[in-house]
Order: sequence, then C-alpha cells, then structure tokens
Amino acid sequence: MAVGLDKVRPDKVTEEKHLVVEGMDISGHWNRMFEQRVIWDYDVDNLEKVTNLPGGESLGWCYGCAKCTAVCPIDIVGDYSPRKIHRKTQIGVDLFTSSDLWLCTTCMNCLRVCPKEVNMIQIMPAVREQAVLTGAVPPELQKAFEDTAKHGNPLGQPQRKRADWAKAAGVPVPIMKDLKRAVDILWYVGSYPAYHPRGMDAARAAARIFNALGIDFGILGIEEKDDGDSQRLAGEKGLFEMLAEQNIAAFGKYEFNRMVVTGPHEFNAFKNEYPKYGADFKVAHYTRFLVEHLDKLRPMLKKPINLKVTFHDPCYLGRHNGEYEAPRELLRAIPGIELVEMGRCRENGYCCGGGGGGMWLDSFTKEHTTMRLSERRVREAAEYGAEVLAVCCPFEVSRFEDAAKSTGNDKLIVRDILELLDESMKE
Ligand code: SF4
Ligand code: SF4
Repeated sequence: MAVGLDKVRPDKVTEEKHLVVEGMDISGHWNRMFEQRVIWDYDVDNLEKVTNLPGGESLGWCYGCAKCTAVCPIDIVGDYSPRKIHRKTQIGVDLFTSSDLWLCTTCMNCLRVCPKEVNMIQIMPAVREQAVLTGAVPPELQKAFEDTAKHGNPLGQPQRKRADWAKAAGVPVPIMKDLKRAVDILWYVGSYPAYHPRGMDAARAAARIFNALGIDFGILGIEEKDDGDSQRLAGEKGLFEMLAEQNIAAFGKYEFNRMVVTGPHEFNAFKNEYPKYGADFKVAHYTRFLVEHLDKLRPMLKKPINLKVTFHDPCYLGRHNGEYEAPRELLRAIPGIELVEMGRCRENGYCCGGGGGGMWLDSFTKEHTTMRLSERRVREAAEYGAEVLAVCCPFEVSRFEDAAKSTGNDKLIVRDILELLDESMKE
C-alpha cells in the first residue's frame, strides 16, 4: 500500500486568494513556494512486514522525533536508531535482510526516551527470529547458537568441565549434587565465569568472598546450562526455551532460599523471562547480594586500592532492571578508591556492545561501524582519567580488555568488582 494516496496532489491544489489580516499574509501561500515532499511514493510493504509480526508492531508508532537517535550507542559509531530504521523501511529497505538487523544490542536507551514507546527489545528479536528460521544469520552468531545447542554454552566448551574453574579457587565450592542438602544460596555461575579465563578470575574471587562471609551456598556444576537470554534476543527463541526448560528442571532438584547470579543477563533471564516458563524463585545479582552483607564485608576490606576507578553500568543491570547503586556502594566501600563517573553513566550509560547477541557479532559489527562500542567506551573511560574500568558483567572484562589494547589504552586496568573486593581482602 502506498502512503498518502488520499492526499491532494499539489497540482490539484487550487490557489486561494491571499488572506491579509492587519497587513499580514495568513493565506499560507508562502508555504507553497517550495516543492512539496513526495510522500505518496513511499511503499510501506517493508514496514508492514515488521509491524505485522507479534512484537514488531511498535515500529509503526514512530513519529520521527529523533530522541532515540541522540542516545543510541550505535549511532555514535555508525548510522543507526529506531527512527532511522523506521525511515529506511519506508523507503524500501528490507530489515529482514539488512545488516541493520544485527547491530542493535537491545541496550534499551531508545525505549527510555521514546515518547511513542517504540520497543526495540521486542522488535529486534521478533524480526531476527524470522531470519533465524530462514538461516540468514551472520556466521559468527550461528556458531554461538550451535555451540550453545551442542555444549550448553556459547563458548563451545565441554559441559563436563563446567565446574573445573573451582579447583583453583583456593576455597571450597560445594556442588549441589554432592552436598545433598538444602542451601541458603544457589549460586548460578554462568558460562563466561565458568569457562573464559578472565571470567574464571571473577568466579574464583566470588567463591573466596562467599567463603569469607560464611555464606551457605552451592553451585550446580555440570548440571548448569547457559541461561540463553542473549540467544533469545538474537532471535533463537527455541534454543532459549530449551535451555530454560533444562535449567528450571535442574533448579527444581534442589532446595534453596534464593539464587545469586554473577551476570546481569542471567539476572534478567531469571527475574523476567524464566517465570513465564514456570520458574518460581527469588534471584539477586551479586552486587545487591553483597551490599546486603556490607556490614560484615567492610571490615575485611583492609588493603587500599589507591586508584581512580570508573564504573560501567551494564545495560541489563541498570536500564533493564533499575540497579545503579549496589555496584557503586561496593566500590565506595573499598579503601583508597577514588570513584569518578563518566559522562554516559547510570540511565544514560553507554553499551559495551555485548547485549542482544552482540557478544558474538564483533567482527560483523566492526564491518558496519567505525569502531566497536567497547572501544568507544574504553576511550571514554580514559578521557575521564580513569586508571581502572570496573565492571560487574562477565561479558565485559574480556571485551574491554581487548578494546583497551586495540585503542592503545593498554594502561587502563579492567576489573570485575569481585576482583577488586577480593584484592582488597588480601592481607
Ligand atoms: S524516539 Fe521513538 S518516536 Fe521518536 S524517532 Fe525515536 S522511535 Fe520514533
Ligand atoms: S536498543 Fe540500544 S542499540 Fe538498539 S536501537 Fe535502541 S538505543 Fe540503539
């Protein structure tokens, strides 16, 4: 259907008499001194392909105010935003086959400011799901899907090694299957803390902190699978549902009061998505959980870390789930740390590029932007004079460490807050 066919063409507009009121021409004649925009040639078939999908409807609500363009992290390193996508679909771009389909990280900054509630967190997964069904997926993302399906984690590591990191923690890390009793805290470790070398550092730090605090906890070990939330947002809903089913069955085998998770993506999955599949348990991200134990933790933080530290708000902890304070409270509790805020922080925090499947699309993103979001963020941290970039998402340590190297900011230290706490607890 073409837009604007019911509108009167300019050649049909009859010239009205000039209407002059108190010396002012208010006839609107001057308004027709310029060519009118040709809006009846637009074809909305491509827009309707999106808006007809369940979840894709809100793309059609855009009225072009461009508030989203001002906050979209990808527009800073490229040419992107919901407004631009809406416009492109009007002038013939097919989002289903466009590279734009894979660039959104579902960071939610656009939705935060959009007066029309155009929701990319629903639009993108809906369209990507169709692309996945036709096999039109960037190869690196496809590999992450296949590794997750085959091994239960996107890193392609063997499931039997999921708890191996714990051997070098230097403290007991009880596994529920062996413990054979109820625990206070079921700690969902997550794939990157379980397998990635820098993620393991944070996992081991967490184990030492939990032990020092006397937390009664256990992990699932080889019974734990990836949460699948990022795969869902990248369009693999079926894979997400399979993982949710398997994880919920594993959780159901054991008694615990609350779950603590290492990563914001898992937090989002268990808090907002798993309940739709029958999960019923309380969950906390480790930053909030440790803040609850700050009275006991604070006296253990003896070793000063005399460095200027800035904190990167993870999109899925901050904007998606409203937690901005707990990470900062932990950092402020460490003696010696000077906490500085970057310009883009809290609600307007910049995205690391890892959300919504971006974790597995780095090469693809690099081809379609001037630099990776992680590289832009690292440069911002350096611009604010930070010596340490503190994070609390397992996706981020490796992303930012790579970005620090590739942008020549090698001196910037990237640390998970768990590592900083653990360091400060050392004699
Ligand atoms: S903020 Fe919303 S309404 Fe405004 S241009 Fe962006 S998507 Fe459209
Ligand atoms: S969710 Fe984030 S990355 Fe995606 S369009 Fe909105 S602001 Fe840009």
